[in-house]
This record gives sequence, structure tokens and C-alpha cells, in this order.
Amino acid sequence: MPELFTSLDLFAPKAPLRFASLGSGSRGNATLVEWGQGALLIDCGFSIKDTELRLARLGKSPRDLTAILVTHEHSDHIKGVAPLARRYKLPVYMTPGTWHSRDLGDLPELKLIQSYTAFELNGLVIRPIAVPHDAREPAQFVVEYAGLRLGILTDLGSITPHVEAAYQACDAILLEANHDPFMLASGPYPYSLKQRVGGQWGHLSNQQAAGFLQRIDTQRLQHLVVAHISQKNNSLEIARATLGPVTQSVKQVTYACQDQGFDWLAVV
Ligand SMILES: [Zn+2]
Ligand SMILES: [Zn+2]
Repeated sequence: MPELFTSLDLFAPKAPLRFASLGSGSRGNATLVEWGQGALLIDCGFSIKDTELRLARLGKSPRDLTAILVTHEHSDHIKGVAPLARRYKLPVYMTPGTWHSRDLGDLPELKLIQSYTAFELNGLVIRPIAVPHDAREPAQFVVEYAGLRLGILTDLGSITPHVEAAYQACDAILLEANHDPFMLASGPYPYSLKQRVGGQWGHLSNQQAAGFLQRIDTQRLQHLVVAHISQKNNSLEIARATLGPVTQSVKQVTYACQDQGFDWLAVV
């Protein structure tokens, strides 16, 4: 796999909280969050070998991970979770619905998230947020450390009042802008899949993502990462054209890509 960026983090001062991606999109997702006392992998839709290579690109190895946190059971998020957890003896956090949705085999340490209650992991507060998506019990997350808030929000078909309330006043947000409705309608997917992706329990369009950004308090927002961008039903140009007007006050806007994810972003 070609290396399109080299991590410069060896020379950078340590931020209290930072995040990066191993890849983002329907062919595999994994988000890395590092804070003063640990490192968390949110989802792992890649094979062990691929995960090791992608982590190395960010200057990390699976041995640096404190735990794996799972959003839901779709294979672009969960495929590599159990193999990686077994190989490196990592605890895995997920909702009971995600755990019962498929047979993941034995895990070294299973931690079921209790009724979407916030919990702590080495000083990092993790707030699970229920989202409308066609999985058994999907959760997205807001994590907090040293007074900083990072929101992760992908794989949802609509923005509920609960979601809108949960992602207020974040310092950084990774947000899905999956498709352009016109490209989805005229694109290659079969009718049933178009209905699923564009429906209330599918994925956010560029317009839905833009509307969400207009309705939340973004005064503290240092980083917006636009993520889970469809390679078939969206384009960077169209996503930028839709999101650009509503992201002018954000210090840095990053577009995550399927193969490269994105490099470390420091939240300070
Ligand atoms: Zn997904
Ligand atoms: Zn999904």
C-alpha cells in the first residue's frame, strides 16, 4: 500500500487528545483515539495484517491499544475486531445487541456497554449515543478527556433530537457525509440498496450532514472530519460544495479517505 503521508508526530508536542483514521468508507473503518493515558481503536473493518500496516503508518502497533470499541456489527466496522482482540488480548466494548447479532467467537475480555450509560476507560469518558441505523443496537460515541470533547458520528440514516443534543459544543467531530441523493438515485446500486442507504435507518447524505452542522453549537469546533464518504454515490467536489458554506468557521476541515483514512489531528 503506498504511503501518502508520513506521520510527523515524533517531533510534535504531545496533545492531550488526538485522533486519526486507518481508513473510512464502506470497505472498512477504524478510528484511533489517543489520550494521556491510553489509545482506543473504534471499530476495525480490516484484516489483522492490514490493521498492523495501517497502524504502523500512524506510528502505532496493536500493542499500544488499551481496548477496542465497536459501533455496530456491519462488516466494514467489525470484520477485524475479534481476530485483533484475540491476537493481542485486547478488551472489547460493545452493546449487548451488537454482541448477540453475530457469532464473534471467544473474546479475551468482553465488556458490554450498559444501557448507553457513560463509562470511563483510563481517564477517558466515553458516552455511547443510540443512533437510527439498520443494525441490532448501534451506538456512536462522544469521548471526553481533559475538558475536550471529540464526537464520532457515522452510520445513521437521520438526525434525531437525541443525537443533536449529544453532539453540542464538541472540540472535534468526525461526521458522516455518505452520499449525494442525486448520485445515489442515478448510481449503480440496486433499487433495494438505494432505498436502504437513503432511508431513515441508512446513511447521512451531504445535505443531512450540513443541516446537522447548522443546528449544533460549533463555536469550539477545531476539527471537522468528513467521513464514510461513498466512493460510488458521492464525490469530494460535491461534498465540499454542500458542506463548505456551513463549515467556514471551523478551523480545520479534513476529508477522510477509504485507503488512507487521515493523519493525526490534535485536539488542544
Ligand atoms: Zn459503515
Ligand atoms: Zn453500518
